[in-house]
Amino acid sequence: MSAGRQRTASPPIAGSATSDFVVVANRLPVHPAEPPSRAWEPSPGGLVPALSGVLAGRDGVWVGWSGEIGPRDAPGTHEGMRLRSVHLTQRDYDEFYLGFSNATLWPLYHDAVRTPTFHRDWFHAYRDVNRRYAESAAQVASFGGTVWVHDYQLQMVPRLLRELRPDLKIGFFLHIPFPPRELFLQLPWRHAILDGLLGADLVGFQVPGAAANFSRLARRLSGAKGTTSSIEYDGRTINVGAFPISIDSARFVERAQDPEVRARARQIRADLGDPEVVLLGVDRLDYTKGIDNRIRAVAELFADGTLHPSKHVVVQVAVPSREEDDHYVSERRHLEQIVSEVNGDHALVGRPAVHYLHQSLLMDELVAMYLAADVMVVTPFRDGMNLIAKEYVACRTDLSGALVLSEFAGAAAELKGAFFVNPHDLEGMKEAIVRAMTVAPREGRARMLRMRRTVLRHDVHAWASSFLGALARSTGRPRAIHAVQPSAGATANG
Ligand code: UDP
Repeated sequence: MSAGRQRTASPPIAGSATSDFVVVANRLPVHPAEPPSRAWEPSPGGLVPALSGVLAGRDGVWVGWSGEIGPRDAPGTHEGMRLRSVHLTQRDYDEFYLGFSNATLWPLYHDAVRTPTFHRDWFHAYRDVNRRYAESAAQVASFGGTVWVHDYQLQMVPRLLRELRPDLKIGFFLHIPFPPRELFLQLPWRHAILDGLLGADLVGFQVPGAAANFSRLARRLSGAKGTTSSIEYDGRTINVGAFPISIDSARFVERAQDPEVRARARQIRADLGDPEVVLLGVDRLDYTKGIDNRIRAVAELFADGTLHPSKHVVVQVAVPSREEDDHYVSERRHLEQIVSEVNGDHALVGRPAVHYLHQSLLMDELVAMYLAADVMVVTPFRDGMNLIAKEYVACRTDLSGALVLSEFAGAAAELKGAFFVNPHDLEGMKEAIVRAMTVAPREGRARMLRMRRTVLRHDVHAWASSFLGALARSTGRPRAIHAVQPSAGATANG
């Protein structure tokens, strides 16, 4: 198939404009400041600390969209990284981004917790925009260079890029779950998406279960041969593996030990009325995060007297997200209704049962929240990883605190010291919250120590090096043996 469909290769731009290391992600690490300013601001995000060192060290290029509709380029450099802008029109934004990426793929890949919408026009926009990302990468990658493509918005880029530049080594990492076969098969464009991913030399997932789902699908749907970790397809070998993403652990530890941040944590507890127990949830306001069931579980604990607002308090930070999407608008209304019911039923004057913040916190405030919380409650219905859980663990330097964690978060494969819950099971969730609140100090410390060891050892830098090391070892030649060792224990998560 490969030779027949190779297009005329778009040659790399000559000279120093090219690089032997290119990252392709939906978003650049900068975004436009609020109008009327025309300035650019750094975008916070887990990928930046992981990749900025690698990019700066190799004079690499980051290809992505600035977040602004229209033809304006982001600055050519940012913190030692070279940036290359892909431009999106309003229509691209509506159909590629809001449409196919976030209303088709996002719900489908998260267990279809909302019904995915299938529109042919959206798929055509997705393919066209993916082609533009591939063309940009083809122009900046030097001969024989390495290109690392990220996430569900760009699954067709590996194939499109290989057609343009067969000389490149191409890696792809999916940050969100990869669905089981029954769900993926619903996608009318399943062959195109699968073939797009199989254009890479290495396809990485968060957990081994997702990698196994993908390899099985590739064998059943495309006639590929091979095993979970190595697929023979189209005359090439594609390596597949689990590379669980992590956080900049040292940075969180450093902020958690800062005297001002610690003082702020004490202040937060005082502002909450110095309760015996602070339970905390922090999530993007997304229907996959299970915030509603979590609030329902604590509402029942307030109702049966296990929790009392004079002694226990719940803080829920819900970060505004995708507010142009109707699903997200109705999720917000739904959540605010539930929070207001709990407070209506159980609050005392001056002592709300649930403190609800529809806000985004800066890092120090977030770390202070983690320090102020006795129990962190993370209950997504499905989540690729969940970095919040890892951040909380990294911040608990004195080994205090407890984590309640959904078994359907990728982080569950690594954070074995958590109190696990099925977020659909309200009784089980209530029990786990109570166990976390009342765990004996010795057991609590042992659990936290176990989790901290994992998070400190396997940080975001280790994640990037393990993926890039496996990519460097991939030759793409058929029938080669390249065992990609999953970095985490086997799990049923996908
Ligand atoms: N975050 C933040 N401010 C907030 C809440 C969250 O900067 O008020 C960051 C947090 O540090 C974490 C990320 O948002 O790195 C959330 O990542 P996660 O994997 O938990 O969920 P996602 O939003 O990617 O689904």
